[in-house]
Amino acid sequence: RRKWRTVVEILKELEDDCDTPVGRLRQVVDAMAVEMHAGLASEGGSKLKMLLTFVDDLPTGREKGTYYALHLGGTYFRILRVLLGGQRSYLDVQDVERHPIPSHLMNSTSEVLFNFLAFSLERFIEKEENGSNSQGVRRELAFTFSFPVKHTSISSGVLIKWTKGFEISEMVGQDIAECLQGALNRRGLDMRVGVLVNDTVGALSLGYYHDPDTLVAVVFGTGSNACYLERTDAIIKCQGLLTTSGSMVVNMEWGNFWSSHLPRTAYDIDLDAESSNANDMGFEKMISGMYLGDIVRRVILRMSQESDIFGPISPVLSEPYVLRTNSVSAMHEDDTPELQEVSRILKDLGVSDVPVKVRKLVVKICDVVTRRAGRLAAAGIAGILKKIGRDGSGGITSGRSRSEIQMQKRTVVAVEGGLYMNYTMFREYMEEALVEILGEEVSQYVVVKAMEDGSSIGSALLVASLQA
Ligand code: ADP
Repeated sequence: RRKWRTVVEILKELEDDCDTPVGRLRQVVDAMAVEMHAGLASEGGSKLKMLLTFVDDLPTGREKGTYYALHLGGTYFRILRVLLGGQRSYLDVQDVERHPIPSHLMNSTSEVLFNFLAFSLERFIEKEENGSNSQGVRRELAFTFSFPVKHTSISSGVLIKWTKGFEISEMVGQDIAECLQGALNRRGLDMRVGVLVNDTVGALSLGYYHDPDTLVAVVFGTGSNACYLERTDAIIKCQGLLTTSGSMVVNMEWGNFWSSHLPRTAYDIDLDAESSNANDMGFEKMISGMYLGDIVRRVILRMSQESDIFGPISPVLSEPYVLRTNSVSAMHEDDTPELQEVSRILKDLGVSDVPVKVRKLVVKICDVVTRRAGRLAAAGIAGILKKIGRDGSGGITSGRSRSEIQMQKRTVVAVEGGLYMNYTMFREYMEEALVEILGEEVSQYVVVKAMEDGSSIGSALLVASLQA
């Protein structure tokens, strides 16, 4: 087995294959906008499903009352209660419970999963209300469900497919809100599932509640997805769709986006082939928290197979998903002089006592993989801005005057999810690339705003807005 030179070559190849110069990002931007058009033009017209959400009015700030929200994400589920006082400033999030989803539930049965969620809700309510449902009225619940759903109304829709490692096949085609309502009824809980909402739509709702310039929301968590406010007349596949606002939120399901311009490596190809949803969710597999760690693991594994810089090959390195993205960020952001954190995490992978030079190499791998993710994420966002005419492309063609450029409208992009919230380097790479793509001028009109717990709080706002 050869040594350092081989490893340097593998790293160089990785860097080349992950390269995202701004020209290439612009091609991704264009491809995203084109696919959005195609997905809106006809059912099955694109890998982007561009799903109707039946959310046409976003919260105004005048919502009142007490509401519950339950969010089933990819790794976590959350329950919270909000109190709304009828004024934007009076939004009291009374309690947020966040728990990891027990992994056995991900491939159990529909009944087991929903009984568990109903049970967790019941416990939460008992704790919150301390034994007394003070108003004696039925509780309203917003159900945030972070998987692709074909909606028939704002409160009903069927599961299209699972993603992010979930595999309960009997649930595909079933109405998700009904499943939860059934479980609540079985427990005798006086609670109604008032809305069924994608997590991105929740984030958009919270963003809009605070700032009506919010037109786009993106989630970078275990998975990744985006939604935005579209004019109904642009949703060509639904001729005659009428809403009072003239628009509707579209859930893009952008995790499934694909373009030949995406820089794909041999590691991505293997990761996809070995996943539970092969040939699916190609974009998500390059940019989201479930997968970044596993791409890094695959690079380290290959280096350890083709050189001896990591010592004897550790069997742990061959276990899919053992290296979590949380550890990738911890290594990437390790600022101890000897890279102690990197050393500790490598030890957990069965790799001990590597010199600082090798630890630095590992940090470099994390950097390359995360930089690509952040930059592609930015290209995705710019693609949406392009589709809705907020990327400045109308304003920066030659011959336009400066004052016309300043006509550009302000657009807020609400962003949520554990990867974005907690991985500073990912966030910085994304924001930096967005400025690179849009240019300094136009970037001043695009505000990226973090929406912590937006997926759940925003859904509660939506259910509240329906009561008004
Ligand atoms: P979910 O996707 O389950 O709704 P989150 O939005 O909280 O939940 O995202 C959780 C995911 O975010 C984790 O699975 C992980 O991939 C990623 N994540 C969380 N914390 C960090 C971190 N410190 N560094 C990098 N990634 C993180």
